[in-house]
Amino acid sequence: MPFRSLGLSGPVLEAIEAMGYKEPTPIQAKAIPLIMAGHDVIGSAQTGTGKTAAFVLPILTKIGSHSPSPRLLILEPTRELANQVDVAMQDFARKTNLTSVTIYGGVGYGKQLEALKRGVDIVIATPGRLLDHLAKGTCRLDQLKFLVLDEADRMLDMGFLPDVKKIIARCPRERQTMLFSATIPPQIDSLIKHTMRSPHVVDIGTRRSPAETVKHVLYPVSDTQKSDLLRELLERVHYESVIVFCRTKIRADRIGLLLRKNNHSVAVIHSNRSQRERDQALQGFRTKKVEVLVATDIAARGLDIADVSHVINYDVPQHPEDYIHRIGRTGRAQNEGDAFTLMVAEDAEHVRSIERFIGQKIERVKLENFNYTYTALFDEAKRTEKDGYERKVRGVRLSGGYFFGKVKRRRR
Ligand code: AMP
Repeated sequence: MPFRSLGLSGPVLEAIEAMGYKEPTPIQAKAIPLIMAGHDVIGSAQTGTGKTAAFVLPILTKIGSHSPSPRLLILEPTRELANQVDVAMQDFARKTNLTSVTIYGGVGYGKQLEALKRGVDIVIATPGRLLDHLAKGTCRLDQLKFLVLDEADRMLDMGFLPDVKKIIARCPRERQTMLFSATIPPQIDSLIKHTMRSPHVVDIGTRRSPAETVKHVLYPVSDTQKSDLLRELLERVHYESVIVFCRTKIRADRIGLLLRKNNHSVAVIHSNRSQRERDQALQGFRTKKVEVLVATDIAARGLDIADVSHVINYDVPQHPEDYIHRIGRTGRAQNEGDAFTLMVAEDAEHVRSIERFIGQKIERVKLENFNYTYTALFDEAKRTEKDGYERKVRGVRLSGGYFFGKVKRRRR
């Protein structure tokens, strides 16, 4: 199906052509006609599926020409996502006279106030700072026609739901609302019931599967050797750009330091870093001045960073959905990517939930010639092979490789 058949305006089609998009992605093919027809839409799709364009393109078509009052509000959970959507917006709106502003905390009010005073068509905001502007009367939403709640489940996780509800209360009732969320927990369900009118659900049904172009493996290792294994992986793997995910900010800082000492060009991104530092880190990574980006989940969720050749999970993600989000950074737009996950014995349960969630087993791999100090796992695997035992982990037969977890043995 060509973009031309979706009823998008001439300037929007020109921008799509300039971007080099050949045809709509599945979520675009489904969501664009619904949004064009004026329906409220709930979209669930993993990152990298083109969900930003799925809502931006039809809204840009319908919003009309420039006027000084905001008609579109896009709420994002993080400043980085707000910036990213703004960059996409500038691309898609380049043939129109529409203007946008990003509004988020951690930076001065000056530029935001100037833009709001001049008058903008589109506001892309995180909840806290927008509420400030609404309370001060420096931003008004009374002419709003379109509201987009992006990454709604992450807004819930980050405790933004009360702020989001306050903002929605300031929007006109007559409006079109779109909500994007990887999962719909009960609180989001109740938000939907209170804020959307007969929404159509667009579920492209692949949010649980990791991108097909990603090859992903687990590296079992003892806790004390994790950083050595990471260093070794970075030495041996031919990567162009790699994101290393850590569970905590402290760990992210520590890993950043360690890799810097090993002569890697590294940037670290997490929520304790200033906006300037975060922007610099992302800019450096995008422009390839920095090869390794060390990040926590919250900081990196949904970020559109093109051409990441490798994702390394220094820590196994706590939530199975985060595994999908993390490895969604690689293998985007059909590029091949690798995702490595370092796994210690305590991670066995989390790994099992990830495997259940994605519906497939992840291969366990031993790094050749790495000086493993803790080899109980590998010895166990070898012994079972030699004895001709069938290896079983909780009833799942393993076809090869190494694995963690309780090994149950059964004679053939
Ligand atoms: P998103 O899921 O919105 O973060 O988009 C992921 C990436 O896919 C972005 O780099 C977009 O520029 C790109 N993209 C979106 N739609 C298309 C399309 N129809 N064809 C090719 N690339 C696209």
